[in-house]
Amino acid sequence: MEFLAPTTWADALAVRQEHPDALALTGGTDVMVEINFDMRRPPALLDLTGVRELSDWSRDGDVVRLGAGVTYTRVIEELGDVLPGLAMAARTVGSPQIRNRGTVGGNLGAASPAGDSHPPLLAGGAEVELASVEGAATIGSHEMQLWLGARGIESIGMNKGGRFEAAGIGFTMVHADHSGGATLGTGSDQVTRDLGCWGWVIEFEDGTTVYHSGDTDLFGDMNLVRERHHPEIAVLPIGGHYTMGPRDAGMALDLIGASMVIPVHYGTFPILTGTPEELRDHTSAEVVALEPGQTWGE
Ligand SMILES: Cc1cc2nc3c(=O)[nH]c(=O)nc-3n(C[C@H](O)[C@H](O)[C@H](O)COP(=O)(O)OP(=O)(O)OC[C@H]3O[C@@H](n4cnc5c(N)ncnc54)[C@H](O)[C@@H]3O)c2cc1C
Repeated sequence: MEFLAPTTWADALAVRQEHPDALALTGGTDVMVEINFDMRRPPALLDLTGVRELSDWSRDGDVVRLGAGVTYTRVIEELGDVLPGLAMAARTVGSPQIRNRGTVGGNLGAASPAGDSHPPLLAGGAEVELASVEGAATIGSHEMQLWLGARGIESIGMNKGGRFEAAGIGFTMVHADHSGGATLGTGSDQVTRDLGCWGWVIEFEDGTTVYHSGDTDLFGDMNLVRERHHPEIAVLPIGGHYTMGPRDAGMALDLIGASMVIPVHYGTFPILTGTPEELRDHTSAEVVALEPGQTWGE
């Protein structure tokens, strides 16, 4: 197994681009357990512990910028007064040894439902900064572009009906029937601004067309997606409660005309009761139920 140990953020991003299969590791308290138990065998490890930029934190007024590599011990010792919720959560993590190695970034990367840093980060309105050598673009509504732009994140703003091409793949923004916004402020000053919501028609280089409805209710104009774009594959929410459920997703497929459907947004928490099996009762399209992280197709 190759071991890559960059010392600067710029080098780390470059190494990541050269070795896309390398698994990032900071404290290793999740990664090493997986490797020791043979649950994972990555071709290379990308050790981020030497990247100074990730192990720093800074404060600007009410905003604390926390490097992904700051350990729980440091959160407790250095940030107890400014981030009391996170410090309190950090005290509950594992043992002193785990707190000396384990990091907040690693906790987010592991994405465990039991992650102790997640609730205080959510409650504090934390934003995650992402970076790559490619400068991967975010595409969304004009309003979302303004919101992200004010936070230093580059994005391409557009609106429904528009088409944007990136890396030879076409993205057409289409209607969705849902809510979508950004919550700003804290406590009683909290306010949610509408940033819009939308779906995508994605045209791949080989001609495959995918309709990703985004979170949405069933709506009659889905038949325009069929008439205008003829998608072979649809990605539709089926959980119910916050989106349409399996029965309406079956009706949506009648309107869209796709021969395959990948159901999404179900099973994440108990209230999202829709299942792929139920969807199969309401459609003749092939239902491809993917596991998290699963790759499908050629
Ligand atoms: C004995 C034991 C007890 C534990 N107890 C708790 C507990 O009480 N509460 C709790 O929440 N967790 C616990 N954990 C889990 C673990 O300690 C935490 O999730 C910790 O925050 C992981 O941080 P790390 O730096 O060690 O992550 P790593 O193991 O280095 O990485 C974890 C994941 O994040 C990714 N990653 C790491 N850094 C980055 C980065 N900068 N950018 C992108 N991806 C990155 C890795 O690729 C990997 O997928 C425990 C683990 C052990 C072994």
